[in-house]
Amino acid sequence: MIISEQKPLPEIVESLEGEQRIFILGCKGCAEACHTGGETEVLEMKGKLEEEGKKIVGYAIADFLCDKALVKFSLKAHEKEIIDADSILVMTCGIGVQATAKVVDKIIHPACNTINVGGARGEWRGEERCFECGECLLDYTGGICPLTACTKSLINGPCGGAKNGMCEFEPETRDCGWHLIYEKLKKLGQLDKMSIIISPKDNSKMRPPADMRKTILWALEREGEEVATK
Ligand code: SF4
Ligand code: SF4
Repeated sequence: MIISEQKPLPEIVESLEGEQRIFILGCKGCAEACHTGGETEVLEMKGKLEEEGKKIVGYAIADFLCDKALVKFSLKAHEKEIIDADSILVMTCGIGVQATAKVVDKIIHPACNTINVGGARGEWRGEERCFECGECLLDYTGGICPLTACTKSLINGPCGGAKNGMCEFEPETRDCGWHLIYEKLKKLGQLDKMSIIISPKDNSKMRPPADMRKTILWALEREGEEVATK
């Protein structure tokens, strides 16, 4: 299960600053099991954001947001509401938020931080990757993860080694992650986000919480890893 936790409400509200009409997207997979983005949490979030003066133009709960085909299928029925929305608040793991950002040209906000991607992983079989950093940055980067899209995991812009939009490490085959982020932000009219300086990350959050490491689920996940390396 991809384990996520909800970001604090003030952080979510701050990320929606200047946007009035919000569409909320939840996930019936891991996010529902973690109680961070199933129907109950989506409806709770709807109520909280309405109290903050936002208009919720619609909501949907996809079967698995980590599968781009299922994201497209879920959003198809809500096309008008999504066109009408200023942005989409996505209540799921970093993989699901990235997958949503890939299939819809709309401002996307993550409502959750991903803290572990071990174990069974929903329907995830796409190219999106998450380092379970515990402080999701996708709000600043057009829904492209800087930690996994950039070879050096840079969080405040490119290293200067890119040429023609390609990464200096694999100039023939790998796009520069920050080139992709720049192009996406430009498309969304959010290039101002490039000037936000992100504070150094708290890398201790990349380690699964101690409580989780004591669970049977965690032990089973580790056992699986050991078997897989034999
Ligand atoms: S910023 Fe990247 S690594 Fe961190 S939670 Fe979001 S998707 Fe995962
Ligand atoms: S060229 Fe781009 S993707 Fe490669 S390390 Fe530098 S910033 Fe990161």
